[in-house]
Parts: sequence; structure tokens; C-alpha cells
Amino acid sequence: MFDKILIANRGEIACRVAATARRLGIRTVAVHSDADARAKHVQACDEAVALGGDAPKDSYLQWQRILGAARATGAQAVHPGYGFLSENEAFARACADAGLVFIGPPPAAIRAMGLKAASKQLMERAGVPLVPGYHGADQDPALLRREADRIGYPVLIKASAGGGGKGMRAVDRAEDFDAALAACRREAANSFGDDAVLVEKYVQRPRHIEIQVFGDAHGDIVWLFERDCSVQRRHQKVLEEAPAPGMTGALRQRMGEAAVAAARAVGYVGAGTVEFIVEQRGEGPDAAMDFFFMEMNTRLQVEHPVTEAITGLDLVEWQLRVAAGEPLPLRQDQLRIHGHAIEARICAENPDNGFLPTTGTLRVYRKPDAVAFARGAVRIDDGVREGDAITPFYDSMIAKLIVHGADRREALARLDAALAQVRIVGLPTNVQFLRRVAASPSFAEARLDTALIERERAVLFDQEALGLPLAAAAAVAHQLRSEAALETADPFSRRDGWRSHGAMARRFDFAFRGEPAQALLTRGRDGRRWLAVGAPTAGGDAEPFGCDLRPDGALDLRLGDRRATAHVHENHGEVHVFCRQGATQIIATDPLAHAGDARAEGGRLTAPMPGRIVSFAVRPGDAVTRGQPLAVMEAMKMEHTIAAPADGVVADLLYAPGDQVAEGAELLRLAA
Ligand code: ADP
Ligand code: ADP
Ligand code: MG
Repeated sequence: MFDKILIANRGEIACRVAATARRLGIRTVAVHSDADARAKHVQACDEAVALGGDAPKDSYLQWQRILGAARATGAQAVHPGYGFLSENEAFARACADAGLVFIGPPPAAIRAMGLKAASKQLMERAGVPLVPGYHGADQDPALLRREADRIGYPVLIKASAGGGGKGMRAVDRAEDFDAALAACRREAANSFGDDAVLVEKYVQRPRHIEIQVFGDAHGDIVWLFERDCSVQRRHQKVLEEAPAPGMTGALRQRMGEAAVAAARAVGYVGAGTVEFIVEQRGEGPDAAMDFFFMEMNTRLQVEHPVTEAITGLDLVEWQLRVAAGEPLPLRQDQLRIHGHAIEARICAENPDNGFLPTTGTLRVYRKPDAVAFARGAVRIDDGVREGDAITPFYDSMIAKLIVHGADRREALARLDAALAQVRIVGLPTNVQFLRRVAASPSFAEARLDTALIERERAVLFDQEALGLPLAAAAAVAHQLRSEAALETADPFSRRDGWRSHGAMARRFDFAFRGEPAQALLTRGRDGRRWLAVGAPTAGGDAEPFGCDLRPDGALDLRLGDRRATAHVHENHGEVHVFCRQGATQIIATDPLAHAGDARAEGGRLTAPMPGRIVSFAVRPGDAVTRGQPLAVMEAMKMEHTIAAPADGVVADLLYAPGDQVAEGAELLRLAA
């Protein structure tokens, strides 16, 4: 076995590889871009070498520098992860030339599977079933069009060198073929530097089912069952699971053997995935499934953890052993499936805006408490920490959440419970979208195919799991808590807090989903509190309101007959509310909160109207951020919060609670 390896990647996969290496007593060398100088993967390794640059072409694709780093640190092998150099034949060869072991397949196998068209010709000869199509070398547009007509519409034009869901065009009608071909070629030339395409039948409602294979240098190849990756957006995977629902033993055997034949045809060694497209005919238990070879990914796959979960194996360990020349750890007849696993890709993106990637800082990044679940039931693979930034330079994937259960139902329940505990503030993510996909009828009933997200559109997009009333109640509770934070650890158990200002009403203004909204909090003579939530004009019916602070900082809310436990985080005036029922955000817009702004230059804060000081929420010397509540005033039978107009440090409080103040009176001083 190796003593030291270099990990030529970043993010979660670099951390993933480092974890196994550490467990096996192998030292690790990280490489990093300038943007990643303090990244988690750098800290996860024993040594680190800077590559310079930010963009991949200036950093993680600079393979001369990576080879130099391996030489300089005395690494014996290079693990390429996925993406970047993992399927780069020239890099694999250069490693060998430099006396380094490339932890992946032989360069010839990478080349053979690198081009979709050429690999299909090879697979045809190996007897692996193919989607009807044309994958020849002649790229004459008229010929391609004749082939499309022969195959029958709809057809799919694919960039032969394509990957990552890019360079594909579905064509429904013959008259659209020429334009689609031209567009696909342009995209292929731009993205992959090669405009060759193939044309194949566009399979309707297909499933994407792939087989994990593993070969060793002694000529043995096994298959480690299947993963269903049918839930996709833009031809990219969203949820992956193993085993595939509805899979029969006989079909699994045939697919496994076809995958091994594919791997054998290219002399495969190491971890690989043979992707099949599966055509379903009919519904229910009688449905027949035909499978066709789509492509082989000659690397470890993003979704490999679901296979690890159902086999109990560590595939990175297998990679290292095989690369070191050891035989495969297990024979085919020793491999078993245990239970069911699902992976969700948590990404920085906005599903309601065409899944556009987003960037920003992870102001809050809280993960599910894996220990609270059954052992091995919840796993999180990530390469970021709270406070890290998601930059535009790399992939938008923040983390992978993998759940395991005795069966699919249990895995699904754990997926929902674990996703509900993910709290990310600072940039839009797909977490709530993933919860809705998992809960959608199609996914819950395992009616899987690549059109699932489109089909369930009505329940997946522009949804609000947590309505305004609960969101507003959480925001009000959070506001009360932050105002009272200095006075008592548990403001809600205090009975006297409201007695001093009697049957006072207090107004909170918000924006919710872009619309103004209001909450009016009142206290009855019996001491009970009531909250009315609604649009400013319509108002709302007041409902009994209550909340308790839990030891973990969560708020137990009651509003009418609704109950929720909410985690609330504030970020630049946005109040983010996370509950088991869902998550949302509202924006505090108290019209009087910033009334002192104009006169606040130089760090002064003034009363927006004549009134009485109820309380200060800060003490001299406290550092405050813009929008943070500083004081509460009572005026016109309402309470108003005075919020910090800017970041600063509290220099002085100029009044005491109970004091009457005139309009424009300076209440406190802030130093910059
Ligand atoms: P998997 O097939 O393992 O699910 P993806 O298709 O999502 O993985 O791709 C894995 C990673 O590799 C992603 O970061 C993706 O952006 C990257 N990737 C895959 N193929 C290419 C390619 N041809 N060019 C650039 N990046 C790619
Ligand atoms: P990439 O290299 O980008 O991963 P693939 O050939 O693996 O490209 O295809 C990606 C996805 O596109 C598949 O998972 C599937 O959803 C869809 N797809 C590919 N081929 C077909 C086809 N012939 N008919 C319908 N959908 C297809
Ligand atoms: Mg693919």
C-alpha cells in the first residue's frame, strides 16, 4: 500500500478521499487554488501545495504543476477525484511517465470510453445493447439528417465528447433538425473543443440506471449492483438511490453482466460506472424494462455513497488497494445488498429561477445531527464549513446528504427528517426543493423517470411550505427574544415582561414573498398574548400566540392550533425561519425602525416620534450589525423597534427605560 498520495481535486471529493486515506494510515497531499487556500480539503490533508490561480484552467487543471507537487512532496500516487483531470487520458499517461500511480483506469480505457460515439461502436462489437442510433465518423449534416429520419423522431443529438449534461439537444420534428444540429455543434465546439455528434433515438420517459463496476490488475471484474439516477434536471442528477425500485433479480443480473462485458472490452481496472438508459413499457408490476448502454464514466462517481451504504464497503479503499496492485477485496458471490439508500445533492442554486447557480457566503450552515439517527443512517459528505464562500469558480454543489434505511420507505422518511434539519443562510439553495421532490407522489411511489421533475412541476416550484402566519410568528418571537436577550435567558417564561406596558399593541412590518405583511401582537387582560397576521389592509384574525425557548436555541411556537419548532437566523434584515414543516424567509421592514437613518450619520440614533423608552437591547461596548434591534420605544399605543442604521459599537445610552423622549431626541450613540 502507498505511504503518501496526492489528491488532485477539491471540495467534498477531496475530503472524502482524504478520510479513507487517513483511516488506512496513508499520508495525503492537497493541492489548492488561491481561492481555496483555507478550504476544508486543505485542512483535511497532511500537506498542501498551492497551485495559484482561481479558475480551474489556472489551478486544478494545471497538471504540470500538480505533477511537480507530487514529486516535491514524495507522493507515490495521484487520486483525481471526479471532474477536472479524472478522465484526462494525457494526465493519466503523464502520471505514469513521472513514476506515479494514477488511481484510476489505464489511459487506454479512458480513451476508449472518452468519446461517446467511438465507445458505442466498441460496445456494439462487445454485444452490449445500444440505443438505436448513428455514431459514425462521417459528420456530413445531410447524412446525419437522413440518419435521424431513419431512426424516427424524437431524436437526441449528443456531443460525442460531451459530459456533465452539456451538449445535448432533443429534436421532435424533422424540420427542426438542421437548426438543432448547428446549435449542438457550436456548443460542443465551445465546451469540449470537438464538434462531432451522434444521433440516437430519444427514449420516452426513460430511467437512468447505472451499474458500479470494479476491476483489478489481475483481470477480475465485479459489479456492485445498480443506482437509479432518474431524477434529473437539465440532464443532471438530483436524487440517486440504490437499489433501483422495481428491479428484478433477473434484470439486475443481465445489466450487471452487460456492464462487466463493457468494462472487460476496454481492459478496465479500478472503479467505473456503466450508465444505461432504461425504456419502460407498460405500468405497474407487468412493466417491462429494456436497457441500453449510454456511456461509461471512468472514475469514481458523485453518487458512489449510495452503493457504499447498501454494500457496507468503502469504494475509495477499493480504489487504493487495486491501484496498489492488490486483488479485489471480494468476489462477486460475496457481494450483498443491505437495505436502501438515497443521496440528495444540496446545491447553491435557485430552483424557482431555472436552477441558476448562486454564490455567496455560508453565514449559517447547520447539518443534521447524524448521531441522533440510527448508526449509519445519515451521512453528509461536504467540503465546506460555516463561513466559507461558494464562489463562481467551481461546482455549485455544497454537500451530499446520504440516508440509509432497512427499506425505501425508511430511507425516504430519514431523507425528509435529515433535510428538514439542514439550515443554510447566506445564499439560495435547493434544500426545500429537494424535500418537495422527495415528498412528491411520483418519487414517494417510485414512479421514476427523467421527466419526474417536469411532471410534478405544480408541487415543486414556487411553493411555500411555511405560510405567512407561522413565519411571522417565528419572526415576532425571534424579535422579542433578541430584545430581551440581555434581561433574561428565557424571556418567554417571564410573567412580568408585559405587565409594565399593559394592554399594549405592537406592530411588526414584514415583506413576505415580495408582498408587504403585518403582524399585530396584543396582550389581553388575562395576560394571554394574541397575534394577528395578514396583509396591512386586510389584517388578520388574532389567534392565541405563545412561544418557549428551548435549550438548543429553537423556539417552540403556538399560533392558534398551529405548532412549530423554529430555528431562526437573521442575516442583514432577512429573518430565516427553519421548521420541520419547511423553511422560508421574511424581511423585516418596520417603517419606523430606520426612521432615524437620515440623522444617524456620525453614529447617532434619534426617536422617530415622541414617546417612552421601553427597553434597550444593547449595552455600551456591544458590537452591533446593521438592522440589529437597539431599543424599543412606545408611542401612539404601539411599540417600535429602533434598529442600528449601520454596523458599529455602542458608545453610550442617553436615556433609561421609562424615560419620556421628544421627537428627534438622541437615544444612543454608535461608534463606527
Ligand atoms: P456523475 O456522473 O458522477 O453524477 P456528474 O455528471 O454530475 O457526475 O459530473 C461529475 C463532476 O464532473 C461534476 O463536477 C461535473 O461538473 C464534472 N464534469 C463531468 N463531465 C464533465 C465535462 N465533460 N467537462 C467538465 N466537467 C465535467
Ligand atoms: P453526460 O455525459 O452528459 O452524462 P449522458 O449520455 O450520460 O451524458 O446522458 C445524460 C442524461 O441525458 C441521461 O441520464 C438521460 O437522462 C438523458 N439521455 C441520454 N440519452 C438519452 C436518450 N437516448 N433518450 C432520452 N434521454 C437520454
Ligand atoms: Mg452521463
